[in-house]
Amino acid sequence: MFGLIGHLTSLEHAQLVARELGYPQYATQGLDFWCSAPPQIFAPIKVTSATGQQIEGCYIESCFLPEMLAVRRIKTATRKIINAMAHAQKHGLDITALGGFSSIVFENFNLSQIQRVRNVALEFERFTTGNTHTAYVICQQVVAASAALGLNLSDATVAVCGATGDIGSAVCRWLMARADIKDLLLIARNQERLQQLQAELGCGTPMDLSTALPQADIVVWVASMAKGVEVNPSTLKRPCLMIDGGYPKNLHQQINDEGVYVLKGGIVEHALDIDWRMMSIVNMDVPARQLFACFAESMLLEFEQWHTNFSWGRNQITLEKMDLIGQSSRRHGFRPLLDLSLSPLVA
Ligand code: NDP
Repeated sequence: MFGLIGHLTSLEHAQLVARELGYPQYATQGLDFWCSAPPQIFAPIKVTSATGQQIEGCYIESCFLPEMLAVRRIKTATRKIINAMAHAQKHGLDITALGGFSSIVFENFNLSQIQRVRNVALEFERFTTGNTHTAYVICQQVVAASAALGLNLSDATVAVCGATGDIGSAVCRWLMARADIKDLLLIARNQERLQQLQAELGCGTPMDLSTALPQADIVVWVASMAKGVEVNPSTLKRPCLMIDGGYPKNLHQQINDEGVYVLKGGIVEHALDIDWRMMSIVNMDVPARQLFACFAESMLLEFEQWHTNFSWGRNQITLEKMDLIGQSSRRHGFRPLLDLSLSPLVA
């Protein structure tokens, strides 16, 4: 059985979802309520591979909200993630993805030091961040979407916002090794980590966001921002391809300017319908088929019976592992989302 640990993007989102799911009494509750809510399990989820193989799993809502970090309720945030993991293990799930901020909280607050939650001795090999598949999907989106827009990668400057992160560094490594791009701009706040990444890659230019954006033909957004940033479209190149892989989204606003194309990053579409409601809650356009690539990684590990933490730690994602999970992804009927059609300006 596979598991998916998820969370909603904000208190407002959580209130909206509570109302939509028929719990009006929770829709008016503030952050304190969500801080005290235990993890909730939704089962079963049945997925059929393109090969015909069938698997079952569960979704676990951790009740973590990014505001918990913003108001420095760190202990609460960490308790949410570790309790959700213990819950997954208690339900016998063999492999579970830590979606969105779950793995970020796990890493940033060293939760691997916590060995036990009440009577559950945590077995970390039952969990994966899902970041290898997410990085693979984003790289495929860069290649396919730029080709669809007639952008030649060998003439393109690519900016990666969140470059020193787990997904961002893997995307940078892949772009340098496989994509023959013209220039790579590295964006993050911590300068020391940027220098380390530049040394590892042997190229790339650390830059702040406002300097990088006007120079970029392609922007990959994979920063761990609790709230998206506002971008002034008039400062962007034309055409400009923006691939927003953040959860919550890194871009605060919808951009409808001519020549600017925004693609939902790190999302896959499955060949067959999945029987669940979760993805309508997070605003997927085709909720029965579209899902986060990190969740799909947990499904792939279950299909393959690779019950191991395939993606773990920080900045350890190799090109070989991206290739391996990519092959599995294609075999089982997932494909990277390439839906630029929402932009009214795409011919
Ligand atoms: P990490 O914590 O490993 O990395 C985050 C990166 O963002 C770091 O480089 C960090 O550097 C940078 N960053 C954070 N805040 C800012 C800021 N204000 N401006 C510029 N850079 C910033 O995160 P992950 O790689 O695990 O995840 C990245 C994003 O991808 C998250 O939004 C996450 O929720 C999302 N995600 C999406 C998935 C999907 O399936 N689509 C799956 C998993 C994650 P610094 O702190 O130095 O600024």
